[in-house]
Amino acid sequence: MAIRVTVWNEYLHEVQFKEIAAVYPQGIHGCIREFLEKEGFEVKTATLMEPEHGLTQEVLDHTDVLIWWGHMAHHKVQDEIVERVYRRVLDGMGLIVLHSGHASKIFQKLCGTDSSRLKWREDGEKEILWVVDPGHPIAAGLGEKIILEQEEMYGEHFDIPKPDEQVFISWFQGGEVFRSGCCWHRGKGKVFYFRPGHESFPVYYQPEIQKVICNAVRWAAPVDGPDSVYGNTQPVVELHLKEMKTIAGLHESAK
Ligand code: ZN
Repeated sequence: MAIRVTVWNEYLHEVQFKEIAAVYPQGIHGCIREFLEKEGFEVKTATLMEPEHGLTQEVLDHTDVLIWWGHMAHHKVQDEIVERVYRRVLDGMGLIVLHSGHASKIFQKLCGTDSSRLKWREDGEKEILWVVDPGHPIAAGLGEKIILEQEEMYGEHFDIPKPDEQVFISWFQGGEVFRSGCCWHRGKGKVFYFRPGHESFPVYYQPEIQKVICNAVRWAAPVDGPDSVYGNTQPVVELHLKEMKTIAGLHESAK
């Protein structure tokens, strides 16, 4: 069965600014949808202004991997929807957070740190993403680096918990570096943060960037693992408490 992906986009820049609409006429979500479909994934999109931001329980229950792009309206995402997405991640749904999604409520909640904190500069600098874990599934089929001719700069320190796996580190023309591709495990779910994708540069049309996102979808897709039981529970093996007390007693008397 094809992996089911939902691409969530705030979808405000493309509506409000004609320069951005010129870069992404179908919206950033439309561009991402197109290359994911070519790869054989089953893709839906959802946007902020839809009822429940397009992320009803029904939609999430039928999503294996959710992709998140947001920037100017993180505060407009309802807490109830954030909690719903969070619970689905713990239950196994993969989450890929792109670019300015680092400051989204859902990413901050999963990080447990103030992941909005980093350096930034919008000068259209060159960025080189270096693969620092060449054996990682997200790096499959790539060269050792990806060069982006023009991007917004993000610099360290980036206030995230130490990644479980680090796949990319970026260098920027102005001298800064940044942890650009980071993986975490939360409950049964997998989370991947991928830095590139400022709205005014055509980054999501670049084949290597598309390859990373496709690889990340496959990596983050749920596996058919066991459901964990939490809370007060019956013993798995019958307890012989009386016997154990006796042994404890013997242990005491031997001292
Ligand atoms: Zn940006």
